[in-house]
Amino acid sequence: MEKRDVVIIGGGLAGLTTAKFLAEKGIDFVLLEEDKSFFKKPCGEGILPIEVEPNFFDLYGSKAGIEGEINEVVMMIGNGTLNLPITFFMMDKKKVEEEIARQIKKLGGEIRLGEKVESVDGNMVYPQNIKAKVLVGADGVRSIVRRSKRVRSPKIGIGIEGHVEELEEFEKEKAYIWFGRDIVPNGYAWAFPKKDHWNIGIGSSNVKNFRPYLERFKSRFSDIEDLRGAGIPFSLPVKTYGKDFVLVGDSASQIMTSVGAGNLTSMICGHAAAEAIFDHLEGKCSLSRYEYIWKKRLEKLFCESLMICKLAEILSRANTNLSRAMIKIMAKVFT
Ligand SMILES: Cc1cc2nc3c(=O)[nH]c(=O)nc-3n(C[C@H](O)[C@H](O)[C@H](O)COP(=O)(O)OP(=O)(O)OC[C@H]3O[C@@H](n4cnc5c(N)ncnc54)[C@H](O)[C@@H]3O)c2cc1C
Repeated sequence: MEKRDVVIIGGGLAGLTTAKFLAEKGIDFVLLEEDKSFFKKPCGEGILPIEVEPNFFDLYGSKAGIEGEINEVVMMIGNGTLNLPITFFMMDKKKVEEEIARQIKKLGGEIRLGEKVESVDGNMVYPQNIKAKVLVGADGVRSIVRRSKRVRSPKIGIGIEGHVEELEEFEKEKAYIWFGRDIVPNGYAWAFPKKDHWNIGIGSSNVKNFRPYLERFKSRFSDIEDLRGAGIPFSLPVKTYGKDFVLVGDSASQIMTSVGAGNLTSMICGHAAAEAIFDHLEGKCSLSRYEYIWKKRLEKLFCESLMICKLAEILSRANTNLSRAMIKIMAKVFT
């Protein structure tokens, strides 16, 4: 049996960011990722900046894989459009995850790819046979750590992402969102510009009635490639710590439910987890400190986001004119 101070399960942005800041503090850890390479999970690859410290570039510490800034979102509702001044970044997520992994290794941290954790018993992980003082569940929306620690599951929706090379009449410096009951109830479809293609997709918090809308979406983009789907948490965060474990990122539902955006919030929470684990291993505090730190930074945002999500659910059932009016008001209030 191998003994480690920290075992991180999952090498998405949550696990990698936790690992980076643990490595910076010289903590002994190993990160186990089931895939043999990074970014296997689908994503829109957008980073919605939020007014919280530390910001994305403080956490990332690099510009590698950052493709550009979008300053306008064209929202399409029924036959009309709304142009909203929303700023966000597009990234090549594979490059970003690989860059963080490079930083971790440079700092002396250990990452093992192709290592799926099949079960967790106490703080032993199998089949690796590693015992951790602190276990980090950064293993995404269907977290095995969350299940083994008997923490309730968040509500889980669905997102599908693929690529198209060209979208005629679409401008590469803008992002496009389709919204409304004809597109998909309780969700939206998107087209985000990438360096050499478009990232397009559709997501909803309502999994039950999703298929016909997905089929319609696919028939609209017949040349869509690399179609991939995954769950998206759609609740407020669950309990994120116990006496010897923390949950970070999608495993804890640390996501802006209104837009299904969890890239940056996962990183902010990963950073908070590393801070708290360091103090905990020094004997200064319990792991409840982690929940205290991320709540101070993000709880208000998560609550507001869920409120918008609920409003959007009502709007996607309402008529087009009402939807447009409400989205205009929401964009004024929240951007
Ligand atoms: C279609 C789609 C589009 C999205 N678009 C955006 C967007 O544009 N912007 C945004 O901010 N957010 C977006 N999101 C949400 C965002 O992708 C997630 O919130 C974010 O990736 C969460 O990061 P994470 O590290 O917590 O989880 P993940 O990225 O899911 O990483 C979890 C990792 O754990 C690994 N793992 C799981 N189980 C095990 C195991 N048993 N053993 C070992 N490894 C394991 C997985 O392989 C995975 O690499 C989107 C989500 C979806 C599904």
